[in-house]
Amino acid sequence: MKLAEFNRTLRQLVAVPILLLVLMAAFLLGEIVATQRAEEALDHSDRITAHLQELQNLIIDQETGLRGFQLTRDPAMLAPWQAAAGPIQLEFASLHQLLAGNAQQRASLTDLQDRYNQWLIFADAILAGNRAALADPQLNQHGKSMMDGIRATTGTMLHREASLRTAEYEHARQLRRRELVSLLLSVLVVGLILALFTRHHLRAVSASYLRRIAEITSKSEELFESRQWFQTTLESIGDAVIACDMRSAVSFMNAVAENLTGWKLDDARGHALEDVFRIVNEETRQPAESPVEKVRRLRHATGLANHTMLLARDGREFIIDDSAAPILSGSGEMIGVVLVFRDVTEERRLQAALVASEKLAVAGRLAATIAHEIHNPLDSVANLHYLIGEEDDALKRNEYLRLAQQELGRTMQISRTMLSLYREPKAPISIDLRELIEGVLLLLDRRIRHQGIQLETAIDGVLVVEGFPAELRQVFTNVIGNAIEAAGPKGSIRIRLEHAEAAEFHGAGAVVEVVDNGPGIPKDIAPRLFQPFFTTKGAHGTGLGLWVSMGIVQKHGGAIRIGNSDYPGLPGACIRVFLPARTLAQEAQPVA
Ligand code: ADP
Ligand code: MG
Repeated sequence: MKLAEFNRTLRQLVAVPILLLVLMAAFLLGEIVATQRAEEALDHSDRITAHLQELQNLIIDQETGLRGFQLTRDPAMLAPWQAAAGPIQLEFASLHQLLAGNAQQRASLTDLQDRYNQWLIFADAILAGNRAALADPQLNQHGKSMMDGIRATTGTMLHREASLRTAEYEHARQLRRRELVSLLLSVLVVGLILALFTRHHLRAVSASYLRRIAEITSKSEELFESRQWFQTTLESIGDAVIACDMRSAVSFMNAVAENLTGWKLDDARGHALEDVFRIVNEETRQPAESPVEKVRRLRHATGLANHTMLLARDGREFIIDDSAAPILSGSGEMIGVVLVFRDVTEERRLQAALVASEKLAVAGRLAATIAHEIHNPLDSVANLHYLIGEEDDALKRNEYLRLAQQELGRTMQISRTMLSLYREPKAPISIDLRELIEGVLLLLDRRIRHQGIQLETAIDGVLVVEGFPAELRQVFTNVIGNAIEAAGPKGSIRIRLEHAEAAEFHGAGAVVEVVDNGPGIPKDIAPRLFQPFFTTKGAHGTGLGLWVSMGIVQKHGGAIRIGNSDYPGLPGACIRVFLPARTLAQEAQPVA
């Protein structure tokens, strides 16, 4: 049962009884009013009877007075006559009023009044008459018959009123009985309806209540089960998990987290996360930003800063890789934070070893190149030296000397480049990218010429970025080296350097674009190019070049994008290296 339905039922449970009781009261009121009317009619009849009797008595009094006077001629005998005259008129008036609703009785009353008035005329004649008239038996007979008529009319009226009363009394009695029966019946009916109605509704409510309880019980069982499920899952996964509430108090840790932090869950529960999960920057050893604060600020899952080191309770140190995510309530409110992290110390060591080995491989390849590069000019110098010793002509000797010096200059430039590979400044310095790329091309020159590759460059203008030159040189040696390998003998490569304006660099920067006419990048391998050891060159490749390059460029705050070229005549890959003018990585350090 929904809440709205429940409220409706409650309202009905109140409203329906009230409505029924009001109906019952109205019905009973009708009955009572009818009974009362009948009783009033009875009363009315009684009053009419009383007035009629009074009128009759008064008229008899008058007649008695008149007889007395007739017999004695004593005016004192007329006292009742006079006393009754006024009240008789009043009685007539009252009766006229009382009988207004009954035509038959009213007609009889008018008749009675007429008879009385005639009798009065007769009486007046007697009062004014002489002794002989008074003793006239005929006259007396006339008076008696008039009075008999009056009595008969009054009698009829009384009789009629009596039978009317009897009928009214019967009616009132019936009404009273009906009233009682109605009362009993309506109480019974209303009571029954209410009982049935309430029973029906209360049953529905209690059924839904029982259903709800069953639902809640099964839900809570489900909840308990799923809680167990998640708890077991969290406890048995390989990553460390710590959960805390919004006040940063630890509420859960799995076994891996216990091991890495050196805290047992029972000890850690309720402790501030900062005490249990102590993280610092690997290099500066300054406390790292609290992941709870970070998630609270960003309101979504986030990774930790690079170079995060976890300090365990027992003094052990781990380099960790970690992510933090908000725990949201059903209403979307943030109620806690969960941290998932793992020990990557070993992984980092392996990566560093790989980077170092790639660096050595590059150096090895360069050393071979350099040996060749240096061998040729040295060969020339040796030849020129021999020629100088043989030559007498001073002009020619000078010319040989100039040539020898030129070759030596080239040798020195190559050895300087070689040295700078190992002499790296501690902090980023300003680098002229054109000069840097020309240095790389110088070292690759022999390979390019040897393969008969057509190289087109557009690297004029001065573009200065901040960074570590040897690392960037390694990047471009890799990228251009890949282009040489992709282009193959008699291939073509185009290198372009230009100014770039991009929001992701927070301002200006430079982009170096290397395009070749090789086979390009098939779609299926594109996502794997930056993975370590991914190579399509078999034993000839290490698959580390792009991975290391990406690491270096990211450290400089830049990015590498690889795609296929749409340059006419150069259908191969197009590699774009973006570098910001000012390096963002303030803590940037040389790779090895
Ligand atoms: P490696 O050169 O040792 O194979 P890299 O990391 O330098 O390793 O390159 C990885 C892979 O990327 C290469 O094996 C190749 O398949 C692909 N790749 C890189 N540059 C190009 C390019 N210019 N043209 C086509 N494929 C390329
Ligand atoms: Mg390569």
